[in-house]
Amino acid sequence: MEVKAFRIPFPDLQKEVQRSEPLRQLVMKCAQRRSMILSQLTACSRLHDAEERLARWLLTAHDLTGTNSILLSQGFLADILGARRTTVTLAAGALRRRRLISYHRGQIQILDYDRLKAAACECYATVSSLFQNFYE
Ligand SMILES: [Zn+2]
Repeated sequence: MEVKAFRIPFPDLQKEVQRSEPLRQLVMKCAQRRSMILSQLTACSRLHDAEERLARWLLTAHDLTGTNSILLSQGFLADILGARRTTVTLAAGALRRRRLISYHRGQIQILDYDRLKAAACECYATVSSLFQNFYE
């Protein structure tokens, strides 16, 4: 799926939203989807363990970048997962021992996408479907 994006100053967008019913509906739909994703990920951070969340996040990074190789520091991963570095180290170690990823000096390589998907929490599928069905 190819996605194109444009930038527009916010005051100009406000004017166009008031003028265009299709644009207003699209902006509302986008806001609704973002709200649903935020709710899902908020629940995710409370209910799912770090290993599942790390798998979900790596799959999302893979989908957005189109590569199996991702350069990330443990500090960054800790921030985005809302976890301590030691928790990220343990989660990455568990995924590495299962041969789902390799991890060396911030370079993460996804070794088995399908098995990593199985290791991720259900939030990956839920959020992915919200993105994929956006234009339907
Ligand atoms: Zn989750």
